[in-house]
Amino acid sequence: MGSHKRLPYTGRVPTPTVPAQDHECRQCCSFCDRLVHPSGCIARNCPSLYVFDDEETGHRFMGCIHKVFRGEIDVAVFREQERTRHGFGGVKMTGTPLPQCRLSVERAYDGSGQAFDCVNPSFFDPPETLEVSFDLRDHL
Ligand code: SF4
Ligand code: SF4
Repeated sequence: MGSHKRLPYTGRVPTPTVPAQDHECRQCCSFCDRLVHPSGCIARNCPSLYVFDDEETGHRFMGCIHKVFRGEIDVAVFREQERTRHGFGGVKMTGTPLPQCRLSVERAYDGSGQAFDCVNPSFFDPPETLEVSFDLRDHL
């Protein structure tokens, strides 16, 4: 009876924790990023927003369980900035947004001429996973 030599297992193929979705475009000199606005998480009372008190610092932080944005935001800093004219603003989107997320696209550089002409207009469309009809250009 022939014997089969078992091949050794080759370790797991790493699965990305964040879906491969590109939230930045560098195809022209404008350099655009998709942002998510934590003010929207609060205004929409999103159940995915969590808050915790950090024992070490005594600060309260908030984050998104879906990691639509990565990292945690100091609630006191957020509140303080929300009182200013510009507000806290948006943070870089890192995950797949849900319909309740408040999104925008921000251009890093404003310029004129061909170098700043958009060659990727679909970047302003809502991410494919989002079944809502809105246009991120509204927020520019
Ligand atoms: S899912 Fe969207 S709205 Fe909800 S906490 Fe995360 S980023 Fe905010
Ligand atoms: S303006 Fe258009 S092409 Fe230029 S970086 Fe933004 S999305 Fe990309």
